[in-house]
Amino acid sequence: MAEKKVAVIGAGLGGLAAAIRLRVMGYKVSVYEKNQEPGGKASEIYDCGFRFDTGPSLVTMPFVLEELFKFAGEKIENFITLKKLDKLCRYFYPDGSVIDAYSDVQKFASEIEKNTTDSAGSVVAYLDYCRTIYNLSGELFLFKSFTEFSSIFNAKAFYTLLNILKLDTHRTMHRANSSFFNDGKTIQLFDRYATYNGSNPFKAPATLNIIQHVEYNMGGYVSSGGIYSIPKALTAVAENKGVEFNFNSEVNGIIRNGNRVTGIRVDGSEKLYDIVVSNSDVKNTYNNLLKDNNSRASKKYDDLEMSTSALVFYWGIKGNYPGLEIHNILFSEDYRKEFSDLFDAKIIPEDPTVYIYISSKFNGSDAPENCENWFVMINAPRNINQNWNYETEKARKHILRKIKNLLSIDVEADIITENILTPEILEKKTSSTGGSIYGISSNTRLAAFLRQRNRSGKYKGLYFTGGSAHPGGGIPLVLLSGKITADLIKKYEMN
Ligand SMILES: Cc1cc2nc3c(=O)[nH]c(=O)nc-3n(C[C@H](O)[C@H](O)[C@H](O)COP(=O)(O)OP(=O)(O)OC[C@H]3O[C@@H](n4cnc5c(N)ncnc54)[C@H](O)[C@@H]3O)c2cc1C
Repeated sequence: MAEKKVAVIGAGLGGLAAAIRLRVMGYKVSVYEKNQEPGGKASEIYDCGFRFDTGPSLVTMPFVLEELFKFAGEKIENFITLKKLDKLCRYFYPDGSVIDAYSDVQKFASEIEKNTTDSAGSVVAYLDYCRTIYNLSGELFLFKSFTEFSSIFNAKAFYTLLNILKLDTHRTMHRANSSFFNDGKTIQLFDRYATYNGSNPFKAPATLNIIQHVEYNMGGYVSSGGIYSIPKALTAVAENKGVEFNFNSEVNGIIRNGNRVTGIRVDGSEKLYDIVVSNSDVKNTYNNLLKDNNSRASKKYDDLEMSTSALVFYWGIKGNYPGLEIHNILFSEDYRKEFSDLFDAKIIPEDPTVYIYISSKFNGSDAPENCENWFVMINAPRNINQNWNYETEKARKHILRKIKNLLSIDVEADIITENILTPEILEKKTSSTGGSIYGISSNTRLAAFLRQRNRSGKYKGLYFTGGSAHPGGGIPLVLLSGKITADLIKKYEMN
């Protein structure tokens, strides 16, 4: 029997993971990517001897990536080297204090005790609580499609149900964190993890404290050649396995016969496929590719709050700054106000928390000698046609002032090269609605259940993978999304 043909729309990490798995399972797979290179949000920029990762800067749950290489029969070390970080992040506070977050829990707990009014014991107890949430919910919510009968009706899911209170769905992250700690600095540090999926810690359920377990108990990693080495490696693996890639190929439509998808439209011509996997944003897929603005599935997204976007300055900087680590956070004074600016007023916060990632600190070739490549990011509201020239100019001033105040560095005159990513540019580049990085936000208790499932309930042969679908955004989750999608195709679309 002929191999079934699959079209994957988009070569983001989720699309690449699904393509590799499906090819290994014996499907004939073609990837269509509108940009000239793979990676989507995880791309790279070169400018005057500097190299920058455009999006992700920290890898968690490396076993997910390792398993993908293993599934493809490849050795990950032939492609990338993941390095576990001893120091995960250096936190700078408005009062001048500095806290280093170590991956060694005891060392980190002592650091918190030394610099705050909280005890080392409270940190250890807190990270145990985060581990419990992961152990209870990970299997059900991250690794499987929880709409499948077999995912819900099994002993593990039953055990989770029995322990549902431990998932802490009824408190917000901030409330839960405030119950473990007294010092505002410790609370702000742990509240920050809501931003890992573009949410608001003052609204998101405490279940999201699972993220801290992933980072502290399991570790944070960098890829020695920079994050872009990951999509580059996955593309090479996919090509070796026989996946066909079409770059500079924007898919303009998904064609269908009634409710069965039959192919895609690219450059004005129709190409027939048995199965279509969309790695494009879910809302974009419904509205622009399926032209299905009126269905319940599509309209749902009009009412749901989207996750945040980002405003990023990629600065090539003259000089070396030993006071900065690979990952650094310069906290805002009023965290609650910052999230209200982002989600309610939908403006760039007056006093944004600033994130600085410097990959040249571990990958020397990312910057010329005596220079550093600064990826300087603040959270931004999704694009609703704000005046981004004005917002960017304003943010640049706030950021430079904050760097001067907290780090005593006047860096402006040493910026040799500058590139900028706004929510509007991110939206154009990756077709993510509003430039939201993680699809819908997790600001409600039900958000995890409202995310687009990987197999379309309405269109036969249509599947979703990537950050706006189940189980969500971030490198490990979109790779898992590709796995869940491929497994569902194997189950429902026999080759
Ligand atoms: C600034 C920033 C910082 C981040 N930091 C981290 C981090 O530290 N750690 C972490 O784990 N994650 C981080 N993330 C999130 C992570 O990058 C994403 O969750 C992940 O890369 C998204 O993968 P995806 O599969 O959803 O695809 P995307 O990256 O969204 O890619 C989708 C691809 O589909 C293509 N496409 C869309 N529509 C079409 C079409 N019609 N035709 C053809 N092609 C199409 C797009 O061009 C794109 O290449 C960050 C993201 C950003 C932007």
